[in-house]
Amino acid sequence: MKKVFIRTFGCQMNIYDSERMLAMLQPDYTPTQEWEEAQLILVNTCSVRAKAEQKVYSLVGRLKHLKRQRPEVIIGITGCVAQQEGENILKRLPHVDLVLGTQAIYRLPQHLKQIEAGHGPIVDIALGDDFTQPLVFPTTTEDLPVKAFVTIMQGCDNFCTYCIVPHTRGREISRPPEDILKEVEYLVSKGVREIILLGQNVNSYGRKEKRFPSFAELLRQVACIPGVWRVRFTTSHPKDLTEELMQTLAEIPEVCEYLHLPVQSGSNRILRLMNRGYTREDYLSKVKRLRQLCPDITLSTDIIVGFPGETEEDFQATLDLLEDVRYAEIFSFKYSDRPLARAKNFPSKVAEDVKTCRLAQVHKLQSRITREINESFIGQTVEVLVEGKSPKDKTLWTGRTRSHHVVNFIGPEGLKGHLVYVLIERAGQHSLRGQFKDLIR
Ligand code: SF4
Repeated sequence: MKKVFIRTFGCQMNIYDSERMLAMLQPDYTPTQEWEEAQLILVNTCSVRAKAEQKVYSLVGRLKHLKRQRPEVIIGITGCVAQQEGENILKRLPHVDLVLGTQAIYRLPQHLKQIEAGHGPIVDIALGDDFTQPLVFPTTTEDLPVKAFVTIMQGCDNFCTYCIVPHTRGREISRPPEDILKEVEYLVSKGVREIILLGQNVNSYGRKEKRFPSFAELLRQVACIPGVWRVRFTTSHPKDLTEELMQTLAEIPEVCEYLHLPVQSGSNRILRLMNRGYTREDYLSKVKRLRQLCPDITLSTDIIVGFPGETEEDFQATLDLLEDVRYAEIFSFKYSDRPLARAKNFPSKVAEDVKTCRLAQVHKLQSRITREINESFIGQTVEVLVEGKSPKDKTLWTGRTRSHHVVNFIGPEGLKGHLVYVLIERAGQHSLRGQFKDLIR
């Protein structure tokens, strides 16, 4: 049997797409972790930041030597860099056989056949206007993880001025609800207990299709499927976070009290330049409402420092917002110019050393807040969905709380896939440590 090596960069959408590609390749290919023994090498790429894109070019550049030694190996680049660069990839990396854009990955098997028949290289970066994704389920993977992603939409219509996604993933398209529900039913039948609904902006799910439910209604339908114990979703655009969705999050027991709500900046001036469609006040009033409806909710966010024109005052507004909201976790980045994104042409670029310094300040502040939040768990008994043994210490189980905190704990054998109570005894910067108390189910 042939072997495929897949290297995935970027977000959960890419992880999900890599899983689908793997499923489509079965039973002809089995996955391998060693690219040296693969007949097919796929690099699923991310172009959201310049650094991720550079990593792709460097990795695929290194494969040139392998291709010289074993010309029969097929090398493919998929995902956002493929979509963005298209034919240019072949000019820069002539040893590549296949360039597949974000919506073309479902044509992978047919393109491979063509290349095997000597009709390569192939570039397919067509973007469609309907959700062409077929239902693809793994046929040979018996041991699925406890949690799984399910994509519910792709693309984005928001055009934030720093972001390349609308150019690489296309316009917003929602997936038919019946396909989503079928996929969730399949995953649950294989033992998956936590479903994470994915999309660039899940909150606007179904807006363009009259027959589709709202996102809040879709959440209810997913949560109703027998065997679904937990539901999460990402990413939520703050401007599209409706009262209906906030109430649904608070009401449905299966929907975890956790929300990733990217704010990007605490300054109204910068938010306007970013074209985010909300003000700091709008954002904070939604946070307040969420906490009224769901006092235990845990929030996380994304922050960009050094957006063009960001002054010390604007940056201070971001630090103040972090103090106000007290996120459990943040993902923070230095602004970088992306091709096709409008901010690339904005004046008043912030110097690299200033961006580095601001990012360090954000990290320092957030580290303190995260530590304080983590320490507040000590002495509490929390519900954990057990994902398996800790990769760092096989004597410990690992899983997550409803609030998305990682918990490592000592407990009896056979807990994978179970919901348990754990007494938290210690708190680190990235995880909590505890003792097994009881089996829930
Ligand atoms: S909402 Fe903005 S940041 Fe998010 S994918 Fe769309 S354009 Fe990019």
